[in-house]
Amino acid sequence: MKLDKNKILEKVAHHKTPFYLYNLTLLEETLETAKKAAKKYNYHVHYALKANCDERVLNLISQSGFGADCVSGNEILKAIETGFSKENIAFAGVGKTDDEINIGLDNDIFTFNCESIQEIEVINELAAKKGKIAPIALRINPNVNANTHKYITTGLEENKFGINRWEFEKVIQVIQNASNIKLKGLHFHIGSQIVDLSAYRSLCIKVNEIQNWFVENHILLEHINVGGGLGIDYYQPDINPIVDFEGFFAIFNDFLELQPHQELHFELGRALVATMGDLITKVLYIKNGQRTNFAITDAGMTELIRPALYQAYHKIDNVSKQDETSDQFYDVVGPICESSDCFGKRVKLPLTERGDILAIRCAGAYGEVMANNYNLREKAEVVFIQ
Ligand SMILES: *Cc1c(COP(=O)(O)O)cnc(C)c1O
Repeated sequence: MKLDKNKILEKVAHHKTPFYLYNLTLLEETLETAKKAAKKYNYHVHYALKANCDERVLNLISQSGFGADCVSGNEILKAIETGFSKENIAFAGVGKTDDEINIGLDNDIFTFNCESIQEIEVINELAAKKGKIAPIALRINPNVNANTHKYITTGLEENKFGINRWEFEKVIQVIQNASNIKLKGLHFHIGSQIVDLSAYRSLCIKVNEIQNWFVENHILLEHINVGGGLGIDYYQPDINPIVDFEGFFAIFNDFLELQPHQELHFELGRALVATMGDLITKVLYIKNGQRTNFAITDAGMTELIRPALYQAYHKIDNVSKQDETSDQFYDVVGPICESSDCFGKRVKLPLTERGDILAIRCAGAYGEVMANNYNLREKAEVVFIQ
């Protein structure tokens, strides 16, 4: 899907920059593709709300029949409000508060993905107070390297997430003595923006091994949840606007050994919403440095923190110039008082001037949701195109 520069400029005429521009047609096509691919194998997909919590986006995703993956009590409430069914809500997170656990219990959600022994004990206590049985899954740390940035790697023993192999015996003992929880499944999530899909094959092999331990110990599990993390093509969003969901699911079909009647669940965030969003910003100044020219934009790390937070790459296009010959280099930087407030170094663009409009691509995931008002900046508007 090629960037429609005229459509963007039309929006710029009516909205103050910077703003997030969400392409609902691309979102719908992405959802449709993911849904079809999952259906082929009868897999269940939960949308990870934390990637993008915009209401219209959530409404579309819930209407498409996805479940929800939440990491806070407020996300659970938001998911319910925007039409996700309660029995399809998974609740993850290494630090769930008592209040948040109670929100999950009150709404009879699908499962609590538990990350520590103490958490299991607390959920049991809180469920007992309400006279309920809480459905839980164990988030297991499979010690699989996702080969992604270290800040978004979550499945290694050195990470804070999940329960490790050496704790299994103790965990099972705790569960057997807890009368207000029911163990329903195993949960895994090894990281984010994973483009080397062999990491998922490694995960499948680890899951099989771990399953075997549970089978040998006569513990039946209704579901396996392999989390999310499927990466997108930040470099060529026009060529690959939609991820190869089919190929992704096929890995699990090929390598994961499910037990009879066992369900397989996924939690996709970025892959569903990243490419449909662009951050639209105006060039305020061009500043010529010794070695580099700076294009200073009215958007900053307050609207999109990924480059500053984990050196993430985002493609940048000059929307004001129809001429595609890019022969100038700019450091595209925001106005915030931090040197890390930089969207890209040595970005190749056509000759760029004050007043030009830039599109910072693939900002639909972990963009708006991570916005903050540092420097007392206003919240950027969300604008939709079809
Ligand atoms: C963040 C998160 C996801 C979604 O990750 P993406 O990289 O956006 O697909 C899924 N599951 C859990 C537990 C998460 O924390």
